[in-house]
Amino acid sequence: MTDAANAADALFRSLTGEAPIGTWSAPGRVNLIGEHTDYNDGFVLPFAIQQRTHVALGIRPDAGIRVASTFASEPVTVPLAELDALFPGRREDVPEWAAYALGVAWALLRAAGVDPESVPGVDLAIASDVPIGAGLSSSAAIEGATAAALNDTWNLGQDAVALARIGRTAENEAVGAPTGIMDQMASMLGREDAAIFLDCRSLETQIVDLGFADAGLQLVVIDTGVKHSHATGGYGERRAACERGAAIMGVEALRDLSVTDLPRAEQLMDDVTFRRVRHVVTENQRVLDTVHALRTDGPRAIGDLLRASHASMRDDFEISVPELDTAVDAAMSAGAIGARMTGGGFGGAAIALVDRDRVDDVRDAAIAAFSASGFTAPTVFTVVPSAGAGRES
Ligand code: ADP
Ligand code: MG
Repeated sequence: MTDAANAADALFRSLTGEAPIGTWSAPGRVNLIGEHTDYNDGFVLPFAIQQRTHVALGIRPDAGIRVASTFASEPVTVPLAELDALFPGRREDVPEWAAYALGVAWALLRAAGVDPESVPGVDLAIASDVPIGAGLSSSAAIEGATAAALNDTWNLGQDAVALARIGRTAENEAVGAPTGIMDQMASMLGREDAAIFLDCRSLETQIVDLGFADAGLQLVVIDTGVKHSHATGGYGERRAACERGAAIMGVEALRDLSVTDLPRAEQLMDDVTFRRVRHVVTENQRVLDTVHALRTDGPRAIGDLLRASHASMRDDFEISVPELDTAVDAAMSAGAIGARMTGGGFGGAAIALVDRDRVDDVRDAAIAAFSASGFTAPTVFTVVPSAGAGRES
């Protein structure tokens, strides 16, 4: 067992004095390419990572649900019959972290059409080694692990895509974070050494082999430590610009445009809106090109696409920050094949695809560049494309 799996088991035992009846886990994720394309009905290419959130579960004698986490000082207990009164919406007396797990229980029972009073009460103990708030989606990991645990325990028969939707419902309606479904799909459907090519309009997925290990490559994450927030205006402003651009072009979503439509778009809209549109349209094309390159030539062929994605987010979508640009530039000058910021922007992490024997050079270069710019040192680590949510024991 990993440290986090042990921690979930130990927390469960200290909470109940008994062993759990089972343990489940779900991973965080990194998005290889396809940024701000999800809410434009477009394409994304995330992969699940080896860092996971673990849930140890047992049955309670009463009809309650208790959630505890190593992340929080106090467990939270709610009668199952009260979930429908708690959500949607956020109640002051439910701490935010607990709304992720309780929101999943609520959304799962609702999606399955099952009366909350007809299922047994449960205790859940949660521990994770996914860095929290670093853009690696610890939120999808806690949702996926909780959803998998409760779906099995309560015999609700929901499939992986349904559980991903349930995770998003919890995040949108119980926590109140207006996020898309990419993170949950990656966490549920991840495969070893592969990415999930997701069409955000149809929710169709294809598994795309990454072949990093065979090519002698590693994926390095450079976490800038700069905290992003969904609450700040930047995210909402970008969404609004995309909607405006689609309306001007007379399409349902920017997904419906291709690069050949860009000259006409440039004539019809103001410069800022046009550049937002150009990012999304070219980024969708880069996802398609990345999938094609991986399938025909392998991972060494995607470096230019990663770099172009970063430049587009920096210059057209304007969601990078100096720390992210510094991380990308340092990685490239230390010999990375490609690098880009990943996640929603305004902070978080950059990724770099690097020859195995250059990982230390990239780490040293990033740390030195941050120091020279007066930034707080970044956290640098590697991630391995890994399996999605499931039962551990
Ligand atoms: P990210 O998904 O990038 O890590 P988010 O802000 O979307 O960042 O989600 C982080 C939030 O999810 C935390 O602040 C906490 O409320 C909740 N969370 C994530 N992991 C855990 C955990 N192991 N235990 C309790 N809450 C968690
Ligand atoms: Mg998140």
